Amino acid sequence: MIDTPYPELNDLLVMMGAAGKHLADIEASEGAAGNISVCLRWQIEPRNRFPVMDEIELPQPVPELAGATFLVSGSGRRLREFIDEPTASIACIVVNDGGKTGKLYTSPHRRFERVTSEFNSHLAVHYDQICSSGTNFHAVIHAQPIHVTYLSHIPRYQDEQHLNTHLLRWQPETIINLPEGIGFIPFRVPSSPELMAANVESLRRHRIVVWAKHGVMARSDVSVKRAADRVEYAETAAKYEYLNLCDGEMGEGLSADEIRQICKTFNVQQSIF
Ligand SMILES: [Zn+2]
Repeated sequence: MIDTPYPELNDLLVMMGAAGKHLADIEASEGAAGNISVCLRWQIEPRNRFPVMDEIELPQPVPELAGATFLVSGSGRRLREFIDEPTASIACIVVNDGGKTGKLYTSPHRRFERVTSEFNSHLAVHYDQICSSGTNFHAVIHAQPIHVTYLSHIPRYQDEQHLNTHLLRWQPETIINLPEGIGFIPFRVPSSPELMAANVESLRRHRIVVWAKHGVMARSDVSVKRAADRVEYAETAAKYEYLNLCDGEMGEGLSADEIRQICKTFNVQQSIF
């Protein structure tokens, strides 16, 4: 939830650009991998930056989100380039009454045909979260951080409890920032309805979820940068875990008791350790 004064369209585009650049900087978005969307429920005027209008059908009906605005990355666009010319890579969608269709606002300089092919998952997660929490702002990021993704190829890390007890043990901050831990979805074909449904379910219980053999999806109802931070916390944890594997597992990590002491001190509710 965001309080007034609400960020303006240009501020949101700058924040999406900064998050995109940071994801590229931490090697979570090679080439055109990854995508970002935000949903806001206050009024903005899209036509100054996005004067071209088309009608589109939404991937699923979202009647409760009539009037809501989405900023969504375009298919095939590079996250690292959003910051230079955001309207070349980002579209704006305002949901029509009834929630089945929307107005797609874009720039005449846009360099994409369609919004990201993962928009079905983005929209479903926004819809589920906004309907359950009533937030007026929600950000979703899909990225492909190398170490988290690599670990998702190793069978024992495909168990959610194993994944969490091994990744959340390297720094005190990790459990504080990801108290529900990291969700895990077995391999699902990109853009598929199966991946969409699994995202909705897992992101009800977690702030970030691993897509096996592909990447992660993270959310935040505070800012797009906060969602990017969650990708970075998970990736840093996975980097420690990878280092430890390469080093013959010499590190002991924080013990379960030490992590419980941290949680007690910082008043963190968790059920992993
Ligand atoms: Zn991907």
